[in-house]
Formats: sequence, C-alpha cells, structure tokens
Amino acid sequence: RLQSRPEDMPEWKKYVQPPDAMMGKRTDKTIREQRESLPVFHFRKQLVTAVRENQILIVVGETGSGKTTQLTQYLAEAGFTNQGIIGCTQPRRVAAVSVAKRVAEEVGCNLGDAVGYTIRFEDKTSPATRIKYMTDGMLLREILMDQELKRYSIIMLDEAHERTISTDVLFALLKLTIKRRPELKIIVTSATLDAEKFSNYFNKCPIFTIPGRTFPVEILYSREPESDYLDSALETVMQIHIAEPPGDILLFLTGQEEIDTSCEVLFERMKVLGPKVPELIILPIYSALPSEQQSRIFEPAPPGKRKVVIATNIAETSITIDHIYYVVDPGFVKQNAYDPKLGMDSLVVTPISQAQANQRAGRAGRTGPGKCFRLYTEAAYQSEMLPTPIPEIQRQNLAHTILMLKAMGINDLLHFDFMDPPPINTMLTALEELYALSALDDEGLLTRLGRKMADFPMEPSLSKVLLASVSLQCSDEMLSIVAMLNIQQVFTRPKDKQEQADKKKAKFHDPHGDHLTLLNVYNSWSRNSFSNPWCHENFIHARQMKRAKDVRDQIVKIMQRYRHPIVSCGAHTQKVRQALCSGYFRNAARKDPQEGYKTLIESTPVYLHPSSALFGKQAEWVIYHDLILTTKEYMHATTSIEPKWLVDAAPTFFKVAPSDRLSKRKKQERIQPLYNKWAGEDDWRLSAQRRGGR
Ligand code: ADP
Ligand code: MG
Repeated sequence: RLQSRPEDMPEWKKYVQPPDAMMGKRTDKTIREQRESLPVFHFRKQLVTAVRENQILIVVGETGSGKTTQLTQYLAEAGFTNQGIIGCTQPRRVAAVSVAKRVAEEVGCNLGDAVGYTIRFEDKTSPATRIKYMTDGMLLREILMDQELKRYSIIMLDEAHERTISTDVLFALLKLTIKRRPELKIIVTSATLDAEKFSNYFNKCPIFTIPGRTFPVEILYSREPESDYLDSALETVMQIHIAEPPGDILLFLTGQEEIDTSCEVLFERMKVLGPKVPELIILPIYSALPSEQQSRIFEPAPPGKRKVVIATNIAETSITIDHIYYVVDPGFVKQNAYDPKLGMDSLVVTPISQAQANQRAGRAGRTGPGKCFRLYTEAAYQSEMLPTPIPEIQRQNLAHTILMLKAMGINDLLHFDFMDPPPINTMLTALEELYALSALDDEGLLTRLGRKMADFPMEPSLSKVLLASVSLQCSDEMLSIVAMLNIQQVFTRPKDKQEQADKKKAKFHDPHGDHLTLLNVYNSWSRNSFSNPWCHENFIHARQMKRAKDVRDQIVKIMQRYRHPIVSCGAHTQKVRQALCSGYFRNAARKDPQEGYKTLIESTPVYLHPSSALFGKQAEWVIYHDLILTTKEYMHATTSIEPKWLVDAAPTFFKVAPSDRLSKRKKQERIQPLYNKWAGEDDWRLSAQRRGGR
C-alpha cells in the first residue's frame, strides 16, 4: 500500500513519507502480516459499517485483539478523516505515546504527521495529523475550549473499563455533545464485560464483540498468605525460569521504585546462579520509563533466552506484550486514594479486584496455553477481593474536575449525568476547596479568578499559586518551581557516592526550604546552558530536568496566551513563599513541641523528610506540597512561612483568633482554621446550583 503512487493514496495518507526502499519493504511486509493476523482484522468491514450506522458503538474485545491500533486505521481508510480527525483517548500517558508510535510505524509515517499524540505538556501533532492519540485528560481540556469538538469526526474512548475520572466525565459530556453534532461518532471500547452497563448508559447503543482468541490459563494459588510478596514474586520468577518450558514471564508490581529495586535484586540473584542457567533478560515497564527503554519490552527474546517483564498494572490492559506464557500476580496495585475528611490524596498499595486478577491471568493465554501464579490464597481471591475496582471518580479529589465543569457552565452537579456519581461528601469537599481558593463565590458560582485557574492543566492549588505569583510579581520564579514540582526525581544518590551526592545537594539548599531549593537547581542549570554534564557533576537527573524545562515552556505558552506577565522578583524570594501560601494554605503545619509537625486543619502528625532543606532547622510554621506515606506521613517539598500569610492567602479559611489582650506573638499562634465542612446537603453550595445556577 505504501508503495502505491501518491494519487492512489487516500487523503489522510498523503502526508506519509515513502520509507526508504529496503527498510520499507521489510517492515511493510512483517507489519502487514502482523496486522492481518489480529482478531479484529476479520471484522474490519462489519466494524466500519457498524460505526456508519450508529452514532455510539461499544466495542468489546480481549486485550491485544487490535482495538486501539487497528480501529482508528480502518476508520481512516474508510474515509472518516475527510470530515474531521479521529481522536482516541487513553487513560495513561505511556499508552498514548506507545500506541501512537506503533500506529505511525504501521501507517509508515513520522510520528506527529498523519499519526500523532497529545499528552499533558507534550504535543506531538501537526496540522497534518489525522489520527490523534491522547490522554483522556487532554480531551477533557479540549472539550472545555470547544464543547462541540468540531475538529473531530470520531472520538474513541478507549480502555473505558479503566473508569478514570476524565473518561467518566467525558462520558457525560459527550452525551451532550452528540445531541448538538449528529454526525459525530463515539466509540467506547472495553476489555471487560461491563459492556451492558455502558450500553444502557449510552442510550442502549449496540455492542460489537470481537471474539477472543485465547488459550486456557492454569491458575495456581499460594497455599498460605505470603508474608513478603516481593520476595516470593522474585522466587517464583526464578523457579519458572529454571523449571518451566520456554515462554516469557510477566510480573505485576506496584510502582517504579519497587520495580527498579526488584530488577536489581533479580539480576544479582541470577548472577549468583552462574553461567549454567540460561540468561534471563530483565525488563521494567512503568509510566516514567523513558520511551526508548519502553520499546525494548516488545522485542522478542533471542533464542535460548527468556525475558521477564516487570510491570505496573499498565500491562494489564493498556499495553500488550506478545509471547507471555507465565504471569506472576502478587495481587496488589498502587492507586490514588482520597480522604475527603482530611482533604488528602495519597497513593496507597491496595489489593486488586477479581476482575483485575482475571485480566492479569489472561495475559498468559494469548500465544498458547499459559500459567498464572497468584501469590495469594484462593480464599483471599474469593472473599477479600472486590468483584470490580471502584471507579476513580468515587475515590479521588474532584476539585480540578469540578472547576472544569463549572468553567463549562455546568453548575448542577447533583443532576449531572455521571455513570456512577461520586459521593456527596467528596463533591462538597471539592466545592469547599474551590471556595477557599476563591475560585467559587459564596453562591458556588465560578469567579473570574476561578475561570482563569481553569485555563491551566494542573490541580487548582497550583494554578492559584501561579496566578498569585503574577500579582506578587514573582511569576518567573514560580514557573520554574511549578515545573520542577512536576518531575518525579530531581536528585540522584548513587549507592557508592552517597556522601558526595549529599554534599552537592546541600549546596542548592535554600534556608527557607525545598521550593526555593528547586528554584536554585533550575536556575543554576539554566545558567549553565541547560547542560547535561553539569547535571552529572551535580548528581541531578538530566532527563528529568529536560522534562521540567519542557513543562515550563508549555506553561509559559499558556501564560502568554492569556497575557499573564512573567516577572522576576530577583532576590525578594519571600514573595514566592507568600504566593505558595495562596494555594497550599490547607497544607500548613506547625512544629509540634514533642516531635515532628501537626497540620493546622486536622492536627494530623506529619514529618519533615530527612532530604528536606529544612531538616535539622527549626522552622516553626511550614507548608508542604503533598504527603508521602512510607513509614510515616512525610511532607514532600516543605517551605517555611509566616502564619499571617495564611490569613492573607485564605481569609475564608483562617482567621486570627479574636483576643485584643493577646500579645502579637500569641495572636499569631492562635491562628485557627475556620473549617466547617460537614455541612448538610442543603447548604449553599448545592442549593445555589439547585436554583439553576447560571
Ligand atoms: P487492544 O487495543 O485490542 O488491546 P492493540 O491494538 O493495543 O490491542 O494491540 C494489537 C497488537 O499490536 C498487539 O497484540 C501487539 O502484537 C501489537 N502491538 C501493539 N503495540 C505495539 C508496540 N508498541 N510494538 C509492537 N507491537 C505492538
Ligand atoms: Mg487497547
């Protein structure tokens, strides 16, 4: 097809560059064969017809059947891209990037031409793009700008079973959009059997099922509960490698750190076994992994060797790796949990659901009969696991989502058409939070500030801080800090050079805390022409810094688009700390005379992390970016403040305790949170909307 003359090419492929003759021939053939061997291939005509005949279509098919990579291409080939582009959402950034790359390769174009992707702070599309993969969060932002999504002819909400907040909100918004755009097509795909529920919600639309092609998977349970699931996971992997017939292994762990450590430990243990045992190729996969390394998991293991992929639940459904015969499933996942009472988000390791367990097991039966080793007892599976996971919308902070809905003029949240509505308390806390941030007025309607905050693709506290930094004339500094907060790891600390690394790090420490320390790092790097060797010398993650710079550039563009001036405060960095208070006043804590700190809101004990620039200093009042729960609740990114800034920053939230006779110092100490959050259902925030809002 790619060798055809340009005039024979379908419109959307005109941008495709003819590949280099030799390479082209080879890859074209194998890729075509591969494409045609997918289960979905035999249904391409029926699928296209079903999309033509229905405005909404649910497509169900086993993971790996070709929904994500093929459907978009079939529809493009069928001419749908003449009326608009095809958008396909993914709950995960990595998946969006990885499938876009794959499809670009299949189509034979450069990434960003006919096929591209958009994820937060990264846009790899061009005017030529016809198939666009994106995170569901990005489509949510687009629908905020254009509720009719006029650029699109088809929206495919992929991986809908993941039930992320963004996908759930898009469900409801797209139901409104299609009323205004009868020609827009919606495809909702799912790997599991929630299809009936989806169909009922989407006006009883038809369900297209792609028959699976799976082999039986033998399931083996632990006899006793495992005391150390990591250790037994690695033991199991090694036993499989030594004792079982050829076939690759997939091990599910919970997060980057755990995966990296396990890869190391496994490598060491394999080395001990010596050269008599065939090589085991150990490959990690998680979101933050650089994409060159991500592609390696798809490469087949050379003959005589075996590969083990150690993955987060990203490999459950969003990414398919061929030739997996063995799955090792410890039964855990790390997910966001939100405590509306504390108003705190945290990542916690929780047991998976039965549906996820079955999905994981299914990964072993794609190429032939497989085996799944469950590192939990059958009784635990039966009685301790929920049948399906709880949708994210019911367990996460909704402030950002509600801000966006309000910015779209949707005020009646109680009657918003959620597939599974979030708990009232979670909605109330979010409204309360937005009110305290001055994004909503006392009638619960969006303020001008709130509208501006909605323009930024980040949590409301952070967009508030950015806007406050504009008024306080330190937006230049705050941009760098916000960008740096976005990256996962700034400093490196190699095992053999810890002391040296700590010394270098201490040079960046700012006496007022971590936010300004991050600023120091960014500024020094910038003064050294953003150089990689400089990062190396200073034990700083070069790749992460590069990402921070990309993020910063993206936010600068948003600032410029909305004409927010970018000004530097020079040495007056106190302004930066004040601006931080305007968004993070909830995360204020005070030194506890006994040990650690206590939050002002709920008097929760929290602790300075030993890596904080404030560690060992005697800062009385601090704010932090978020909490990390390891052995204790540690504050992450902590900065010292003056308590009166809190009152300035959030007058509806804090007040100075009324007592004329108290000394100034005592007064400061008596700053109390005004926090009345358990109001009934009929208080202003919801009743304002019941009256019809705007
Ligand atoms: P589904 O969406 O139904 O789960 P996909 O369209 O994602 O299926 O994948 C179909 C097939 O394409 C997979 O089985 C795999 O063989 C292949 N594939 C997908 N992504 C890649 C990639 N990045 N590299 C190599 N092969 C891939
Ligand atoms: Mg898919």
